Amino acid sequence: MREDFLLLNPGPVPVTREVREAMSEPMVSHRSAAFEAVYERAQTHLDYVFEHSTPDGASTSAGGTSLILNGTATMGMEAAVANLTDRHSEVVSVVNGKFGRRFARIADRHGDATQVAFDWGESVDLDAVADAVTDETEVVTMVHNETSTGVLNPVEAVGEIAAEHDARYVVDGVTSIGGDEFRIDDWHVDVAVTDGQKALAAPPGVSALYVADDAKPHVDGEKAPFYEDLDWHLRKADSHQTPFTSAVPLFRGLAEATADIHEEGMPDRIARHRRQSEAFREAFWAMGLESFPDLNEHAEFSNTLTAIRLPEGARGDDAPAFFDAVEARGVSISGGQAHLGGDIFRVSNMGGLSSEQILRGIRTIGEAFRE
Ligand code: PLP
Repeated sequence: MREDFLLLNPGPVPVTREVREAMSEPMVSHRSAAFEAVYERAQTHLDYVFEHSTPDGASTSAGGTSLILNGTATMGMEAAVANLTDRHSEVVSVVNGKFGRRFARIADRHGDATQVAFDWGESVDLDAVADAVTDETEVVTMVHNETSTGVLNPVEAVGEIAAEHDARYVVDGVTSIGGDEFRIDDWHVDVAVTDGQKALAAPPGVSALYVADDAKPHVDGEKAPFYEDLDWHLRKADSHQTPFTSAVPLFRGLAEATADIHEEGMPDRIARHRRQSEAFREAFWAMGLESFPDLNEHAEFSNTLTAIRLPEGARGDDAPAFFDAVEARGVSISGGQAHLGGDIFRVSNMGGLSSEQILRGIRTIGEAFRE
């Protein structure tokens, strides 16, 4: 792999040399004081990210606990839902892309899920959500940044609906948290889920959860898969430990990456992500390309992931040649997922990318279209 190869896929994202070095430190026992120090460091910085992801850095949570799980965000999503539901629990899942659908599938495996579904790339219709959520609804699942389509969903508005019916609100902030605004209390979030390998710019393989203090009485670990018992994880997390063997190098990488976020500060980090995604959009529009998301007044373009329709000559059967031409120039981007394959391309600006790297991405994609 060439040293300057640029990953603009929506995860895993590039990690710094310091993160890589942290992962190659000599091994320690997961029951040692040395490991507890790593977990505590990661928790301190994750608390900062979960609680201060606002443009002015103000706190957005009255209190909660940051947890790290051995496993990517899908495990975190399942853990969040499974600890709040049993087979009879009514769950409403908002779906307008691949990850909303994944949440609905998880919810249906652990509870009784109703999907409020829209075409992938369409915005959420809040009236449809309001019609679906009732006083019987125990949990609402929602994806903040739909990575499959580039739509930033109205987490706050859906949170208000969930709160009106006293339903627990579980939010996938996998590709927003660490890169964009995210408000725990103002948006009524009970459990937030994110992934190491996305906007946190840590290695793949670990996910992070934030369980708000108010949600803790609703968590019942006995309902969940043994490995995902959040009561147990929460108890152990108080002493910077995990119930099972921790993925020590990945926890170290996450601690280092989140320390970098704390140093940059969430206000600057949010502003940078907004600037960079705007630069991507403006550049692609200037090339005559069209954004994929179909936005209503409640949705916005994602600030971490840009989804663009492939033009004539690069779509369908012609798409692989376009992606190969990008990759041959040392840059990796992503295509559409599932039925969107061959229709769109997706570029990420998650993590710690520089302006030069964003410009290189734009230049490379422009050149590949002209090839
Ligand atoms: N949720 C969102 C919004 C995502 O973008 C992803 C991955 O791209 C996931 C969940 C699932 O992450 P993983 O496949 O790493 O478990």
